[in-house]
Amino acid sequence: MEHYPVYLSLRDKRVLVVGTGECALAKLRLLIKTPTRIEVYGFDPIDDLIALSAAGHIHLMHRDLGANDLTGAQLVYAAQEDDTLDHAVAQLAREHGVLVNIVDNLRHSDFITPAIVDRSPVTIAIGTEGAAPILARQIKAHLEEFLPRSLGHLTRIAQKFRPKAAGLPYGRPRRAFWSDYFLKKGPQAYDQDGETGAQDALDTLLHQHLNCERGEGYVSFVGAGPGDPELLTLKARNLLHQADVVIYDRLVGSGILELARREAQLVDVGKTGFGPSTPQDHINDLIVEHARAGAHVVRLKGGDCTVFGRLDEEIDALDAHGLTWHITPGITAASAGVAALGQSMTKRGRNASVRFLTGHDMKGFADHDWESLAKPNEVAAIYMGKKSARFVQGRLLMLGASPQTQISIVENASRSDMRILETNLGDLVETLRSNDVTGPALIFYGLAPRQAQSLSHTQNMEFA
Ligand code: SAH
Repeated sequence: MEHYPVYLSLRDKRVLVVGTGECALAKLRLLIKTPTRIEVYGFDPIDDLIALSAAGHIHLMHRDLGANDLTGAQLVYAAQEDDTLDHAVAQLAREHGVLVNIVDNLRHSDFITPAIVDRSPVTIAIGTEGAAPILARQIKAHLEEFLPRSLGHLTRIAQKFRPKAAGLPYGRPRRAFWSDYFLKKGPQAYDQDGETGAQDALDTLLHQHLNCERGEGYVSFVGAGPGDPELLTLKARNLLHQADVVIYDRLVGSGILELARREAQLVDVGKTGFGPSTPQDHINDLIVEHARAGAHVVRLKGGDCTVFGRLDEEIDALDAHGLTWHITPGITAASAGVAALGQSMTKRGRNASVRFLTGHDMKGFADHDWESLAKPNEVAAIYMGKKSARFVQGRLLMLGASPQTQISIVENASRSDMRILETNLGDLVETLRSNDVTGPALIFYGLAPRQAQSLSHTQNMEFA
C-alpha cells in the first residue's frame, strides 16, 4: 500500500486549482462539495467555470499562480494539461511544502483522489493506486446501486439521535436498534415521509426496543418488471434485500427471487389466467398475517403492480387492519413488449393515446369501447388476451376494423425465450393457435414490429 488513505478536513481551508479548462472542471465537481475556499488560477476560463464562480462555489483569480498564493494552502491541483506548466506548478508547491496532484499523472503526484461514493457523511473512497481504474469505476457503480440515496440523510438524522439511543444497553441491544433503523424502518419511513418520517421512526423504534416490543410490520408493493432481472428498479432490488417475507406471483422469475435476502421467507401465490390459482382472499390474508406479525413484507408482482395486479384489493385489506404500505412501481409488460418491437407506444400523427386493456376480467370477457378502437390508427396493448382473442377479434371486425390491421404478439417479453409474432386482425386467432403461444403474451393492436415494417417496405419497393 504505497498510498495511505486518510480523510482530510477541508473546513475553512484553501485549495488551489491551476488550470481553467475541462481538466480543472473535472476536479472541481468533487471539491465544491467541501466547505473549502477554492481558488482557480489561469486565464480564459470555460463557461462552466464562470457559472461555478457566479454561483459562489469557486474564486476565479484571472492570473497565474504566484509563490505568495501558496502560503497556508492545503492542496494544489495542477490541471493545465501541459506537462511543462504542470511540473512548474508542482515544483513551486513542493518548495512551499504544499501537497500537489498533477491531474492524471500518478507518478509525479503527492496524493491522488480516489473514486468516491458520496452519501455524505458516509463517503466511500475506492483507490487502486492507478493499477485498475476500470475496476474502481465498477466497484463504485455497484455501491451506487446498492446504497439507498437516502443513506446520507438517514445518517445525519441518526447522528443527532445518538445521545437518546445511549439509553439502550451497550452491545447487542444497541446494535439491533441501529440495524433496524438503517436497514429497515429508516429507509421505509424516509421514502414515505422524508426527514420527519425518519425522525419519527427513530422515536418509535427506540420505544419498541426499550420495551422489547416487536414492531408492526410493513408492506412494500413492488413491481418486479417483465422478467429480465436487469429491468428491476434499484428501489425494488434494495427492498428485496431488506424483506423478511416475499409474497410473489407466477410471473416473477427465479432470477429476480434470487435477489431476495437469503433469510427471507419466499411465498408463492402463483395464479394462471383461468387456471388453478390461490384465491385472492387467501393472498390478502397472508399479507395481513405476516405484516401483523411484524414482518417487512415485499408483495412482488410481475410488471408494474398498478397494472392489472388486483392491487386495490390487497391495499383495502391492509387498510382494514391499519397496516402501513408503500408502492414501488415497475416496468409494465407493455413497455418491454413495445421496446422489443422497436416501436413507440404513441407517435405524432398516428396515435396520441394508447390503451392498456385486458381481454377478460373476473366476470369473463371484458367489454370496452370497441367502436372507437376499431377506428384507424388506434393502438392498444392487450393483456391476458390469448383466451379472449376470438372475442376481441370478433368485436373489432364487427365494428368496422380492417382485418388488415397490424398486430404483433410478444410472448415472454424481455426474457431469453421471447418470441415476436407478426400478424393482422383477421389472422389473430389462427396465429396464436398455430404458434402454440403458451407463455405470458401481450397482443399489440395497431403495431407491427419495426423491422418487419421496413422489410415489407423494401419488398414493396422491389415490386414497384
Ligand atoms: N402487472 C403486470 C400485468 C399482469 S396481468 C404488468 O404490468 O405487466 C398478466 C398479463 O400480463 C399476462 O397475461 C400477459 O398478457 C402480460 N405479461 C406479463 N408479463 C409478460 C411478459 N414478460 N411478456 C408478455 N406479456 C406479459
